Amino acid sequence: MATDAHGAPTPPITETGLFIDGQFGPSSDGKTFPTINPATEEVLAEVSHGTDEDVDRAVRAARRALEDGPWASMDARDRGALLHRLADAIGREADDLAVLETLDSGKRVADCRSADVPLCIEALRYYAGYADKIYGKTIPVRGPFFTYTRREPVGVAGQIIPWNFPMVNVVWKWAPALAAGCTVVIKPAEQTPLTALRLGRIARDAGVPDGVINVVPGDGPTTGAALVRHPGVDKIAFTGSCEVGQVIMREAASTLKRVTLELGGKSPNIVFADCDLDAAVTQSHNALYWNQGQVCASGSRLFVEDAVYDRVVDKIARRNRAYKVGDPFDPETEQGPQVDRVQFDKVMRYIELGKQQGAECVTGGRRWGDRGYFIEPTLFADVRDDMAIAREEIFGPVLCALRFSDADEVIARANDTTFGLAAAVWTRDIKKAHYLARRIQAGTIWINCYYGLDLAAPFGGYKMSGVGRELGEEGILAYTELKTVAVNLA
Ligand code: NDP
Repeated sequence: MATDAHGAPTPPITETGLFIDGQFGPSSDGKTFPTINPATEEVLAEVSHGTDEDVDRAVRAARRALEDGPWASMDARDRGALLHRLADAIGREADDLAVLETLDSGKRVADCRSADVPLCIEALRYYAGYADKIYGKTIPVRGPFFTYTRREPVGVAGQIIPWNFPMVNVVWKWAPALAAGCTVVIKPAEQTPLTALRLGRIARDAGVPDGVINVVPGDGPTTGAALVRHPGVDKIAFTGSCEVGQVIMREAASTLKRVTLELGGKSPNIVFADCDLDAAVTQSHNALYWNQGQVCASGSRLFVEDAVYDRVVDKIARRNRAYKVGDPFDPETEQGPQVDRVQFDKVMRYIELGKQQGAECVTGGRRWGDRGYFIEPTLFADVRDDMAIAREEIFGPVLCALRFSDADEVIARANDTTFGLAAAVWTRDIKKAHYLARRIQAGTIWINCYYGLDLAAPFGGYKMSGVGRELGEEGILAYTELKTVAVNLA
């Protein structure tokens, strides 16, 4: 097996075709696209690019598997057992998956090993336990009727995912869908198709019947759009940008598909002077710079109360100066490259805008190195609410520090955004913490922590940060249809 610059083995890239009905194969027109290592800008592999015809083939396979064959007749408890077997199989191939993910996305291999792979395994086990616990109610109605509800699988789910957590996005979409009895066609992001394809092979080897899982890489406007338009798809689950979320909702309207959208954010992270400042600084730094700043719920607007503002800015600046940017395979590295040239250029454009509009660039602000899409950890101070860097999702290592002096003032400013994905509040005053938790318009509020995510807790956005919830019970119910049955007992 080949090794990387640090002597770690790099797995051969063996799955590059479309995965449809249990088989890997080329696209109908033979077209491929390159997937690139963002740390070196080198092409890793040519991957098949799904056409309308390929999407149609995948949807038909998913429909057949849904209605006929071993999956259609499998007991819910056996579905759960199968998800546990898939989790075991992922565990056996954990290291190859982690390395493949780092090669394709630039994420730190240490994170892929310690967070991404375990999060995939945990999601499968969590929803495996749910498979046989999806049930309806008996309802007392007027008259001689026995009325009950059933929760049935919504059908064929089309899943469209981004590149910031490639394999976690795959498995967090598959696990509730499969536990509910659906079949899936997934389109990974163009930048990061490799772990999705590998997971397709692992699922087949673990015994997931043909057609239950289909993986069709390609671009958004062609392959993704074909999935959204396809009349054989019952539901679209999408994670990505707000703009594409809007397109998907419009396109899905013609067939009235069920739609769940997990979109972007510009999440306020609010630090009061009475908090545990060291904990707030450590986690506020991580809230933005983790994963190269490429996290939908990142704490990108850091509101700091007047009395501690200068201290917090200084502490974060010091961390940035010591932060190690570089090769994502190097165990010392804290920040890898942005995922591709497009994202790199977008982030650099925002940095220039921040400077032009008068924010103080305290650290960073430049490209790091001359190969790969690396950006220095950047901190802007004295940011005003009306600046582009304070209003728009940058999705990179760029933190905006804003000053505030009063709770009601910061609530109004935190809510003055079209987004509403997450927020955090740092204070020792429990009444103030809950007052803010109630008033801030966001799907998740963290108090004295950041990224307090758990698979059992629903996650999603207010306002333009999304529609519906993923994870927890809500996450699996979103893959079901509710049916009412009334029996005349007269
Ligand atoms: P997109 O929203 O464009 O991409 C997400 C997924 O949607 C990809 O698989 C993409 O395909 C697909 N897609 C794109 N257009 C369509 C379409 N018309 N119909 C169906 N599917 C489509 O995100 P980007 O990758 O372009 O990133 C842009 C910005 O989005 C980021 O800078 C960030 O601000 C935000 N973002 C938010 C994320 C989140 O977690 N909420 C995750 C990633 C990005 P393709 O392979 O062609 O890109």
